[in-house]
Amino acid sequence: MKYQLIVHILDNKPVKQIIEVRGWLRTKRDSARMSFLDINDGSCLTGLQIIAEEKLQNYDEIRALTTGSSLRVLGKLVHSPAKEQEMELVADEIEIYGTAAAETYPLQKKRHSFEFLREINHLRPRTNSLGAMARIRSSLSHAVYCFFQERDFFQIHTPVITTSDCEGAGEMFSVTSLNLDKLPRQNGKIDFNRDFFGCPASLTVSGQLEAEAYALALGRVYTFGPTFRAENSHTSRHLAEFWMLEPEMAFFDLNDDMDLAEELIKHLISHGLTNCREDLDLFARFIDKNLYDRLNSVLENNFTRIDYTEAVDQLCQSDQQFTYPVTWGVDLQSEHERYLTEKIYKRPVIVNNYPKTIKPFYMRVNDDEKTVAAMDILMPGIGEIIGGSQREERLDILKSRMQETGVNPDDYEWYLDLRRYGTTPHSGFGLGFERMIQFITGMANIRDVIPFPRTPGGG
Ligand code: ATP
Ligand code: MN
Repeated sequence: MKYQLIVHILDNKPVKQIIEVRGWLRTKRDSARMSFLDINDGSCLTGLQIIAEEKLQNYDEIRALTTGSSLRVLGKLVHSPAKEQEMELVADEIEIYGTAAAETYPLQKKRHSFEFLREINHLRPRTNSLGAMARIRSSLSHAVYCFFQERDFFQIHTPVITTSDCEGAGEMFSVTSLNLDKLPRQNGKIDFNRDFFGCPASLTVSGQLEAEAYALALGRVYTFGPTFRAENSHTSRHLAEFWMLEPEMAFFDLNDDMDLAEELIKHLISHGLTNCREDLDLFARFIDKNLYDRLNSVLENNFTRIDYTEAVDQLCQSDQQFTYPVTWGVDLQSEHERYLTEKIYKRPVIVNNYPKTIKPFYMRVNDDEKTVAAMDILMPGIGEIIGGSQREERLDILKSRMQETGVNPDDYEWYLDLRRYGTTPHSGFGLGFERMIQFITGMANIRDVIPFPRTPGGG
């Protein structure tokens, strides 16, 4: 039995019958005739205290146990006289599955730094904080599927290997089955005709274009999966492999897109507050003392929606010295994004209608012909969490935007077909799932909200 059940469902009423738990030893205290074992089975943050008395037939082995060992315990749940816990399990039988040598097991009782834990990614889920993170991540992932299912969206599994590059030139990981020591060449260039797909291929940087094809058939769709960017960003908000959630909706304009994005963020936050309370408490205690106020204030207020032009005005008027100066036409840097959301508006901010020169070809050109119907959502402490837009549905304008931005329309015939045949207004966005988890938990480094972080130079 998982003691998530014992601790939470039985509501602290002692059960008479014998119960069985399995888990890993966190700490052990010995007194003259008994040992107190604090074990955890990973199902929740709370541990369970086991009382092992001298009469147990393998008592000597039990007394020699150290942190990290795995056990099966049969016993009776009783009220605990100690004030630290309500219940404890008096063992009738303890089976030892595996020991963990104290001289080498790296997770001893003391608190370890997140930097240290990153060196043992395979063992860090056994700590309170990374265990809690994994449970929160799982719960939020489930909430994503429920959110879209309840709103009649269809989930689309877009390809991980792609031969269509959406905006990401230079940021892509190549996929090849060619022998790198003996590349076939034609006129000095690599002959991709002889590669697996007969052309260059790479890992996806976004499932958007494929999601568009399905939105223009099924109406409302989303894709949620791993995304790869070979950008050499050594920041606390970039990973080389991250999970992106990309909804795409036919007949949605930019306002509908922003409404859905705001609703989604609020839904995930309130899901976390309702379903992950015990784990979030840990982050509220040790990582961000202000966590609940911060999350509740996002739920209680509307996001501020401003034009890019207004954002630039606000930044220019502020007396803040930025590393990168702001003028109309530049892309907002993380320092600008955070200043807007943390200092000026003190709440999430949706910036829309960016200059077309800094945005990709597929965003819809506005009537002013200078800006596109783009929207980025900026969160306090994080900066950009969502990037989205209304898509260009007019064939001729889309083609000329491709040419302007150096994209060859011949490579996107299938995408242009979506505008040739039954084109409609449509919109979508991409949410960085790890950045969402960072926001909800207050974790400073994105490497600590994904099980095995992939970052430049660190495999
Ligand atoms: P940034 O400017 O922060 O590098 P971006 O504008 O390149 O992000 P988009 O292409 O708009 O990102 O991707 C949509 C969302 O995916 C972003 O808003 C962000 O939440 C997330 N995201 C993008 N790149 C990364 C990354 N390298 N690691 C983790 N999340 C990312
Ligand atoms: Mn973006």
